[in-house]
Amino acid sequence: MRLSNFDYIIAGAGLSGSTFARLRAEKGSKILVIDRRSTVAGNLYDETNMYGILVQQYGPHIFHTNSEEVYSFITKYHKWNPFKLRCSVDMCGQQTPSPFNFKTIDQFYATDKAELIKEALLLKYPNQSTVTIVELLNSEEPLIKQYAQMLFDNDYSLYTAKQWGIKASEIDINVLKRVPVRLDYKEMYFSDKYECMPEGGFTSFIKDLLDHDNIEYINNEDALKYISLNDQDHRIEFHGLEVSTNCKLVYTGAIDELFNYEFGKLPYRSLTFKYETLNEELFQATPVVAYPQVEGYTRITEYKQLPKQNILGITTIAYEYPMMFEEGKADEPYYPVPTDDTAMLYSKYKAKAGNYDNLILCGRLANYKYYNMDQAILAVLRCLLYTSPSPRDTERSR
Ligand code: FAD
Repeated sequence: MRLSNFDYIIAGAGLSGSTFARLRAEKGSKILVIDRRSTVAGNLYDETNMYGILVQQYGPHIFHTNSEEVYSFITKYHKWNPFKLRCSVDMCGQQTPSPFNFKTIDQFYATDKAELIKEALLLKYPNQSTVTIVELLNSEEPLIKQYAQMLFDNDYSLYTAKQWGIKASEIDINVLKRVPVRLDYKEMYFSDKYECMPEGGFTSFIKDLLDHDNIEYINNEDALKYISLNDQDHRIEFHGLEVSTNCKLVYTGAIDELFNYEFGKLPYRSLTFKYETLNEELFQATPVVAYPQVEGYTRITEYKQLPKQNILGITTIAYEYPMMFEEGKADEPYYPVPTDDTAMLYSKYKAKAGNYDNLILCGRLANYKYYNMDQAILAVLRCLLYTSPSPRDTERSR
């Protein structure tokens, strides 16, 4: 591969790699982005299917943030439309809002008891719109505790067990400490200041990020084919690529794979999706419905509603099945498994990476962290603060 001189080679054209590329390209750096997939956008990839419905290939994504910095970054490059996500849970034969709210209490209890539970909640948590399920489970008030236990037994314990592949009895309730239960009738999945979807889809947004004269990108190429890490002098070599002497590698793929799994594999949960297209106007009341009590799948997404698309008489849905990630079996590594052991294993790789001056790790796989999209962007912005610009950037800013 003979291209111009690059200041950065970025492995991965997902949100992290593309954000990094754009921000450095605007400073004058020459960037090569390589992705081994045939598409850009990483796990945000979406495409219009044969029925004209925009479908996200790696699970439902909705942009939400409270960060002004992130919001002004995304809206600088693309048009975004406001979108408020509503979700439901299918529980004991009824569909109820997610997060659970006062409508859930009305649905699952007789009127008198429902009133008592709502009164008890408002008395115990005045001036609050949400409370966590863990706080409810730990409540001394019998009515509140009973309500929380009903939610835990019929939803949280079953859903979490399925999602993480463990027994319901093994769940540490602390993993639920950020899960909110609403103390009103509002139906909103997120409560961030900005909640929006990119016009034309996420791939279109990522393409806009990569659309800069200083950025070249290549698909269907594994960056590892060109990179070798020299353990002796801690230099990174790029075989067959004409690169500048100060070229830095920005790696957004899996850190254990970069080091050839030297200390062992970092575990991930994965997902597979089963798509169906039905001759129906609408399949479900909300774009996403969770199914804690059924065998196998965790949720169903109806893409015509994510965002709303005016396609008549037909709809595409995706069933989501969680599983352990195994190389060659499940599609992709999705969720890191945060335990003391994985933190220790990750820290070994991190320490090793620290020996290489021209290696920058960013993104959910390289950092082995679940990042929402806004957190992934913020991580890149933080990373850029600590990355000295290339000589070319410095020349430009003089
Ligand atoms: P990725 O998107 O994984 O991109 C990494 C890229 O690197 C990939 O394209 C991969 O092919 C490439 N790559 C890896 N190794 C190599 C290599 N050796 N050579 C070349 N290329 C390589 N966030 C939200 O804010 N809202 C949501 O609603 C939301 N929903 C989600 C739903 C699911 C099911 C999941 C799993 C995550 C969700 N997220 C959501 C999080 C979101 O997906 C991430 O924040 C985002 O994908 C992070 O982007 P990334 O670039 O770090 O990683």
